[in-house]
Amino acid sequence: MELLIFWDSGAPAGIQASFCRELAALLPVVPRLCENPLLVTGYRPERRQTDASVLLDSLDIYKRRSGVCDPILLVVSEDLCRDGDEYLFGLARPETGNAVVSTSRLANAHYGLPPDEEELFDRLVKEAAHEVGHLLSLAHCRCRECIMYNPLTLEDLTRQKRWLCPVCREQVRSVL
Ligand SMILES: [Zn+2]
Ligand SMILES: [Zn+2]
Repeated sequence: MELLIFWDSGAPAGIQASFCRELAALLPVVPRLCENPLLVTGYRPERRQTDASVLLDSLDIYKRRSGVCDPILLVVSEDLCRDGDEYLFGLARPETGNAVVSTSRLANAHYGLPPDEEELFDRLVKEAAHEVGHLLSLAHCRCRECIMYNPLTLEDLTRQKRWLCPVCREQVRSVL
């Protein structure tokens, strides 16, 4: 399945190609990298965060207007939220095949720690694979090391492996 990656200009540069390779190694997708053609909207000044639902709305509109049918993953650097959630690493909308992930809370800088490019990359791959997994109709998994475990904290995400457990792997196979 082809997967469009909309890489926003604010997201870390230079890692796009290896990001696409890692995603393809984890899930049955063929990533196609594009510059993000959309403006990042949804800023909520009262929270100093960006509403992930608004970003997904704009992807839905883009899809309707452009006639694109492939699933889209948007990568941004804005800190994401939505009503009812203090923050989000990412969000998927399987009904329309769109997802967004943010590097904001995946970077050590957010926690006052020294930067670690490799750790940021690893977390980004895992969080992105999680949201794309939802686009492939995967639900949350109870296995704490599986990509589809719901990571609520950075520790969760760090514990997860770049790995899909046998149950989730079987499920992806049956869907495709
Ligand atoms: Zn999830
Ligand atoms: Zn699993």
